[in-house]
Amino acid sequence: MSFERNNIHAMTGYTSGEQPERPDIIKLNTNENPYPPGPAVESALRGIQVQSLRRYPPPTASLLRQSLAQLHKVEADNLIVTNGGDELLRLVLATFVEPATSSAGGECIAVADPSYSLYDVLAAAHGCGLKKFPLRADWSLPPDFAAQLNAAGVKLCFIVNPHAPSGHLASPAEVEKIAREFRGVLVLDEAYVDFVDPELGHDCIPLAMRLDNVLILRTLSKGYSLAGLRMAYGIGARALIDPMQYKTKDSYNTDYIAQTLARAAIEDQAYAAETWRRVREQRAWLVARLDELGLRTPPSQSNFVLATVPAPHSAAAVYQALKDAGILVRYFKLPGLEDKLRITIGAPEENQRLVAELTRILKR
Ligand SMILES: *Cc1c(COP(=O)(O)O)cnc(C)c1O
Repeated sequence: MSFERNNIHAMTGYTSGEQPERPDIIKLNTNENPYPPGPAVESALRGIQVQSLRRYPPPTASLLRQSLAQLHKVEADNLIVTNGGDELLRLVLATFVEPATSSAGGECIAVADPSYSLYDVLAAAHGCGLKKFPLRADWSLPPDFAAQLNAAGVKLCFIVNPHAPSGHLASPAEVEKIAREFRGVLVLDEAYVDFVDPELGHDCIPLAMRLDNVLILRTLSKGYSLAGLRMAYGIGARALIDPMQYKTKDSYNTDYIAQTLARAAIEDQAYAAETWRRVREQRAWLVARLDELGLRTPPSQSNFVLATVPAPHSAAAVYQALKDAGILVRYFKLPGLEDKLRITIGAPEENQRLVAELTRILKR
């Protein structure tokens, strides 16, 4: 006997990247930051008094939102803090998209294809439609993207920028053109934006402050080495933030410990920025070595690269051989990605081990 709603019964859950128990595995498969959280986070953790857990935490993470407001030069009211980016994605669907069963008639969301596969899972669980719009060969968005969305009657669209799994970056001007033309809510998933080369001066926050249909997602999971803490936030106009902040989110969606540690991490920008610089340095190093081995990668502004495995080798076989050697990378058995591996940028020793193993595997 199944008690599930029909759409839940019919759907398949999200497949996370493998999280091995063995500490000696080199993990280049889930885009975590290879460097530890900073000393400010460690001392904040040590400073937490267990008695402070007796009370409920600030419901909208007010102190953390103040720190974030200062960092991004926005008002605290333009920010919502969530239990990981995944909660924010769930909230936008619950708040802005009618499910198929709605008496108002079901709405649909859109994603560029390929993209973060969690969007499909969340849409299935919410019970709304999902339309996929193919990216161009260089992973950029088609020039008539907004027109395509409008023609398909899309209510809300997710764009990952920098894009996953390619690392391609769309410029703020390109994003603005889409946002101005699109008649729905545009969610910019900036999970990897911290790794963008600062010389590009990339910044979509002013855009989210000017337009009332742009919501930006940021997470502490990648840039701040805090994937285990489950903290993220949204930035946008109050018309987008308020209904989530005061109606659809859990009243105490983030806990006191997470709020305290997240604030310590956000207030120590110098430490985080140094990890980003090192990741960019290693990214350039790894891209050059992969190139020498014949594995081409499109330019990445993220903390991973998407490498094409040259024939006659198969990406699936190289993935398995690396795994046998104790190195995990990500292989997606999806159209357009079958010959590719997504490789997270690790610490220098990890990247060197990866290159050594790849050299050995490709010589066989
Ligand atoms: C990691 C990631 C997120 C958010 O992850 P959380 O750990 O839930 O904050 C969102 N979008 C993309 C594309 C990601 O890779």
